[in-house]
Amino acid sequence: MVPVSSGEAGLQGAVAVTEPGKKPTHFIQEIIDADRAAGRYGGRVHTRFPPEPNGYLHIGHAKAIWIDFSTAEANGGLCNLRFDDTNPTTEEEEFVEAIKEDVRWLGFDWGDRLYYASDYFEQLYQYAEELIKRGKAYVCDLSPEELRAYRGTLTEPGRESPYRNRSVEENLDLFRRMRAGEFPDGSRTLRAKIDMASPNLNMRDPVIYRIQRARHHRTGDTWCIYPMYDFAHPLSDAIEGITHSLCTLEFEDHRPLYNWFLEALEIPDPPQQIEFARLELTHTITSKRKLRQLVEGGYVRGWDDPRMPTLRGMRRRGYPPEAIIDFCSRVGVSKTNAVISLGFLEHVVREHLNRTAQRVMAVLNPLKVVITNFPEDRVEWVEVENNPEDPEAGTRQVPFTREIYIERDDFMEDPPKKFFRLAPGREVRLKGACYITCQEVVKDPATGEVIELRCTWDPESLGGSTPDGRRVKGTLHWVSARHAVPAEVRLYEPLFLTEDPEEGGDFLANLNPNSLQVLTGCLVEPGLAGAAVGSRYQFLRHGYFAVDPDSTEDLLVFNRIVPLRDSWQKIQGRERT
Ligand code: ATP
Ligand code: MG
Repeated sequence: MVPVSSGEAGLQGAVAVTEPGKKPTHFIQEIIDADRAAGRYGGRVHTRFPPEPNGYLHIGHAKAIWIDFSTAEANGGLCNLRFDDTNPTTEEEEFVEAIKEDVRWLGFDWGDRLYYASDYFEQLYQYAEELIKRGKAYVCDLSPEELRAYRGTLTEPGRESPYRNRSVEENLDLFRRMRAGEFPDGSRTLRAKIDMASPNLNMRDPVIYRIQRARHHRTGDTWCIYPMYDFAHPLSDAIEGITHSLCTLEFEDHRPLYNWFLEALEIPDPPQQIEFARLELTHTITSKRKLRQLVEGGYVRGWDDPRMPTLRGMRRRGYPPEAIIDFCSRVGVSKTNAVISLGFLEHVVREHLNRTAQRVMAVLNPLKVVITNFPEDRVEWVEVENNPEDPEAGTRQVPFTREIYIERDDFMEDPPKKFFRLAPGREVRLKGACYITCQEVVKDPATGEVIELRCTWDPESLGGSTPDGRRVKGTLHWVSARHAVPAEVRLYEPLFLTEDPEEGGDFLANLNPNSLQVLTGCLVEPGLAGAAVGSRYQFLRHGYFAVDPDSTEDLLVFNRIVPLRDSWQKIQGRERT
């Protein structure tokens, strides 16, 4: 795969874009248009999103969800949510609920069309018997090891099973006894009778049922035989009246088998499988197994850790679901695998937040400032804009008092030339309030650390300018010491230092040791007290932040969603040194 790292414009390889209210123009839409022109499916479009309930959804699934639901919607069709729960050993009810929640969070609705492949176990069984009756399936007694050996390789054809030519009667009898539990696990399988010499390994008499005494999360102990995915999927699609079964490219080689089952059973108006490229992001892994390793190994704080590419992680981090959908649509649908820059996802998220997030003042590393000529008990409520990008957003009142906090970085005792913020004797503007001049620097006698600045204000500058029109270069954000609300702020960097987390062969070796930085002792303006979990703000000069569920009555906890500007140069620079 080719990494696409052109940052903000990381769009090479993308083919199509959907705009709201407009029909998509990607190749899947072309297939649908052709089907409709030919009168296929009576003009219906019906898709499905088929997650396996064996883990949490991630950003890659968001793309599949978006394609499945939006393609149906754009064509006046329907999309089902179907749990592909044919594998009893890896699936859990916990994931079913989480997946439903995540799909809803992205803004999609399956209406009353929530299905489970396990609901079709009886029907699927009947289809299997039908295949046997048609001479297209047989019970095979080869062991799993023998099956593998008989299968052949890419360069060598497979060998036919000695059980391949059993009579229909014998096959039916054995298959029914498999179902009845007469044989041990793994001792027999039902196989499709296709072609052991096929160049496509999937067509070499694939197993369609296995004996496995495992409790299923929905059907309990009813079954001791379970259908394989390749058999269950096309037939579940057929049962639901799916027209376009959209999936990722790795299923391309399975398509002949998908079609074979539908043809062998003479399914009328059969669904068709169409493959699209997976979504992969730089600095990101989307393998469920590896994500689990990160959680279980304690490398992250859980499945919803804001650094995780899971939808719950991104939700906790504060990514707006609309931005994720916008991102998917801007990456588009294509047939070629490409790796999209994580910077592009962040760029899209930032665009959304820039339009929607209220601006507030937060001091992450506070330095106390006393305004010596400002009365002790006076509170001046100053008016500050909520969002210059949104004319409807209005203004708010922020209290200004004698003691405030500014950002420690906004003061330098001995500033270099281009530093325009506060320094001894220098005048700056306080955002929305007034001008102050630094008169005195108070230091800790023991350490020499600056612990307080003593400043004076110009009362005529209240509101942000003075009658004499004099200019100041720097504008600082600040909070009133008496009113500020304590906060903890969590800053994130990508979980992996390398664009390809697998570089060098061990993804754990590429973990970014600085992926989480926790700042304590931060202060935010009082209007944020009691802010709801998930609320998003722009902290002036620091980026976009969301309230984390770890917040308590006494302490607000914020996650940085994205910095104000692309900080990718910095991170990639570090990776090279
Ligand atoms: P597993 O290896 O466990 O099957 P999976 O990622 O394929 O993992 P599923 O639950 O089977 O998980 O996926 C549901 C749907 O999401 C499938 O149609 C799959 O093709 C699609 N999907 C999974 N990963 C991506 C991805 N990175 N980009 C786009 N679609 C994806
Ligand atoms: Mg899968």
